[in-house]
Amino acid sequence: MIIRNEEERAILVEAGKRLGGVLEAVANMVAPGVTTDELNTLARKLIRDNGDEPAFEGYTPEGAGRKYPATLCVSVNDEVVHGIPNEYIRTLKEGDIVSLDLGLIHKGVIVDSALTVPVGTVSKEATELMSATEAALERAIEAAQVGNRIGDISYATGEAFKGTGFSVVKMLGGHGVGSSVHEEPFIANAGHAGTGPEIVEGMVLALEPIANAGKAAVHMGNDGYTYRTKDGSISAHFEHTILVETAGTLVVTRRPSER
Ligand code: MG
Ligand code: MG
Repeated sequence: MIIRNEEERAILVEAGKRLGGVLEAVANMVAPGVTTDELNTLARKLIRDNGDEPAFEGYTPEGAGRKYPATLCVSVNDEVVHGIPNEYIRTLKEGDIVSLDLGLIHKGVIVDSALTVPVGTVSKEATELMSATEAALERAIEAAQVGNRIGDISYATGEAFKGTGFSVVKMLGGHGVGSSVHEEPFIANAGHAGTGPEIVEGMVLALEPIANAGKAAVHMGNDGYTYRTKDGSISAHFEHTILVETAGTLVVTRRPSER
């Protein structure tokens, strides 16, 4: 989506603010003993209470054989992305890390955001993986400037993991968003600076670094949605929807605690 006027911009900004609020409320519910289904139910309720619609429920991504059956994606430990919270219901336990990925539609505009949170006390490795992935998202956002290229975002994301010992998942990544859940361009989580489409005023992009504590390889589960690490190592994921503007890139899905 390209934002072309103040009205569209105001709707996008409000959509992002609402998503940030809902996602933070869901993240705050994460604790030992809570189920993935309970997180999904809360996300759905909060979105609907605001008069908005979940964006993922009923959406069929390219290559998927069926509609996504939930509001929220919940990916625990070695689950990388797109874990289904309400079919294979998992109970969170102390030491887990859990990625929460959520999209909503506000007045026809779609926004998308994710974060990974600890369940109680987690390992040093898990804490470092989450910090590194969140830091990579900020590097990606800095690279998303008018006049840069999409490859500059990919490069900044990949470089952010150099020296961390963690593996960025290159085959997954960000995308255009706003009019539909996934739009062009695809934004790989590693790549070459100065390549790809030019980043222009008004572009709405979802940036989403994903990294594994072990090797980068991932595989798709039997449910047709859940990606897991091949080596069983834990994985983290952070995502924001941004609006590229000459005056400075705006992160529209900042959560209340991040503002
Ligand atoms: Mg997402
Ligand atoms: Mg996304």
